[in-house]
Amino acid sequence: MVLVSDGKIVEIAASAARPVPAGTQTLDLGDSMIAPGYLDLHIHGSAGFDVMDDNAEALPVVERLLARHGVTGYYPTTVTAPLDKTLRALERLADAIDSLRHADNTAEHRARPLGIHLEGPFISHARKGVHPAANLLPPKLETFERLWQAARGHVRMMTIAPELEGAAEVIVEAARRGVCVSLGHSDADFEATERGVAAGARHATHTFNAMRPLDHRSPGILGAALTDSRLSADIIADGVHLDPAIVKLFAAAKGAERTVLITDATAATGMPDGRYHLGSLEVEVKDGRCMADDKLAGSVLTMDKAVRNLARFAGWSLSQAVTAASRNPARVAGFANKGVLAAGADADFVVLNPDGDVLRTFIGGLECSA
Ligand SMILES: [Zn+2]
Repeated sequence: MVLVSDGKIVEIAASAARPVPAGTQTLDLGDSMIAPGYLDLHIHGSAGFDVMDDNAEALPVVERLLARHGVTGYYPTTVTAPLDKTLRALERLADAIDSLRHADNTAEHRARPLGIHLEGPFISHARKGVHPAANLLPPKLETFERLWQAARGHVRMMTIAPELEGAAEVIVEAARRGVCVSLGHSDADFEATERGVAAGARHATHTFNAMRPLDHRSPGILGAALTDSRLSADIIADGVHLDPAIVKLFAAAKGAERTVLITDATAATGMPDGRYHLGSLEVEVKDGRCMADDKLAGSVLTMDKAVRNLARFAGWSLSQAVTAASRNPARVAGFANKGVLAAGADADFVVLNPDGDVLRTFIGGLECSA
């Protein structure tokens, strides 16, 4: 039984054997498992649309699909593109975030954009994955400032390669502005990674993917990401980007507190095999693999599936895996009122069956219709 008032949780009770205060809504969810709403800090699109699309339909369509899969809040994530294209996308995303702030509680309920994740342009040529080489840029405060202004301060996460010249300066400044600086798309050695952490980085992006591989005599960025307790880290647990045994290794290294699930989902998510786009790239999806230039180009993963996979691959209980999609990303993002089921927290939660399938999703106490 969940008691909700004004979009916040008042109480989670075993039964309604208590007087309910006026203005409080009671949701009787029987014996089902209730979990905090999932947060996806790295997602490019879904259901045929990319978050960088210049199309008013794009975000609502993406957000409805997210809500169906238990995601109540997310960071729309840019891929490296020509700078002016990125700037325009950031303006549109900032508009979406601002309009949500002004929307009242009765607005249509779909996953909410809570901030922007900038993936690139400050990433390594050596580990760019499918990000277009021509659009990568060296880290510079001036460029960061242009991105920041276009996004009107809504950049909340940034993936950057710490070994690039100028990276430390940009990391310091981004961290000062409250951005979660995440290390990734990087060929850094161990020392350069630690310098990035010293400058203010505190997370790692799709760990193992687009990183210098782990070597037992040259630990590199992975050696740091896996062992440095100042860093939380995320993974794409779709069974394609990482072998299940590597997911288990990761979970053992980062533990229950610092393991974060992302989807890195693209427009192809929730769609049949075929050709889609990722930012300005064309990608082809076949048998659950999203490829461009013979490289993995994002995923078709949904967060509910990532949770089930993590439980299975790492041997974690479902409720432990759920924290990697809720409490832990909320902490990474600095949302004290999200990712937890507690009095005063936002009434964003999901109802799960014992297999981890999402039965119902509530955002601000209101159910998202399927
Ligand atoms: Zn991505």
